[in-house]
Amino acid sequence: MRTLIVLALLSLVACVPDDASAPDRWFKGNLHTHSLWSDGDEFPEVIMQWYADQGYHFVGLSDHNILQEGEKWVKIPNNPIRRGAFEAYLGQFGPEWVQYREDSTALEVRLQTLDVYRSLFERPDSFLILKSEELTSRFEGKPVHINVTNVDSLIPAASGNSLLEVMQNNIDAVMARRAASGQPMFPHINHPNFGWAIDAAVMKELKNERFFEVYNGHPLVHNYGDSTRQGTEAMWDEINLHYLRVGKPLMYGLATDDSHNYHSFGPEYSNAGRGWVQVRADKLTPDALIAALEAGDFYASTGVELSAYEVSETGIRLEILPAPGVTYTIAFLAAGVEDEATELRETINGNSATYAFRPGDRLVRARITSSKDKHNPFKPGDKEMAWTQPIALP
Ligand SMILES: [Zn+2]
Ligand SMILES: [Zn+2]
Repeated sequence: MRTLIVLALLSLVACVPDDASAPDRWFKGNLHTHSLWSDGDEFPEVIMQWYADQGYHFVGLSDHNILQEGEKWVKIPNNPIRRGAFEAYLGQFGPEWVQYREDSTALEVRLQTLDVYRSLFERPDSFLILKSEELTSRFEGKPVHINVTNVDSLIPAASGNSLLEVMQNNIDAVMARRAASGQPMFPHINHPNFGWAIDAAVMKELKNERFFEVYNGHPLVHNYGDSTRQGTEAMWDEINLHYLRVGKPLMYGLATDDSHNYHSFGPEYSNAGRGWVQVRADKLTPDALIAALEAGDFYASTGVELSAYEVSETGIRLEILPAPGVTYTIAFLAAGVEDEATELRETINGNSATYAFRPGDRLVRARITSSKDKHNPFKPGDKEMAWTQPIALP
């Protein structure tokens, strides 16, 4: 038994390499983004330019039930904001690049395909676009949205005879596509509380579900729950404690933008720049990023950046990249296997912290809250935060 515990801990340490001895880097990315290919209000090239300019390393442009391929023309509404956006697009990319047609009734623009526009932005080790899709279904009026990252061809959204079945059929479709193509790709559950559609009870029953959005920047997604319904963080722990008891791998938590609105800004809009992941990998490729994500070697953030994160046999050590005048509260949350929720074990005010695992700890994670107001927040009053991935202890 003792050997088993040591082996399990060694494998845990192996997949969370030490900064000093490994050539790994942190790559920043947003895995949930919309464009004019579905219900976003901007051209994909303008969106990619924004993310590249903001220092992101990768983006998954995940429109609803469509990939950016084939011929698609969109009508530009005759209002000053959208006409102005078209003029800006034309100015930025030029008449050789932008295809449009106009008559007395409408202005239409042909959208560029991912295969064409990706070469404008992708650079080795600095910027990568992951082909993605938001599989968009519903069951009895409840939205069921599941992203697939690094998909190779369009996966039709699945239906089913129950909410669970709709979810599982979509997940199974992604896993089947992965097996058939040999290309790494993964499903992640979007915004469970959008339409109050998906709760912890249904997610506990899923198979092969390794990721969900603990934070989504869209105004309608109820990240924090309400007086009677769980927020995503509470769901996350409850689900993972159940997964531990039944022997399923842990579910990891992503932060994403789910950006749709690129011209109007405020809490009532879904704007870019609200939530992202920082993934530790040796190179910026889909395979390396997905391997790191599946190993839990990443954290979710709305602004807090880590300079070190290490898990050893005895505990967790983390350091924050400090910003001038900003203070940080580091909370370590843990639970025993029979618990239904984590408990706040330690709170440290500072730029670094160590948590020593305690006897009985089976699930441990950290949450960092900054004193800095989040710019253009999901909810007024939000502070910049980060969430590390849960660790399962033997
Ligand atoms: Zn959605
Ligand atoms: Zn979305």
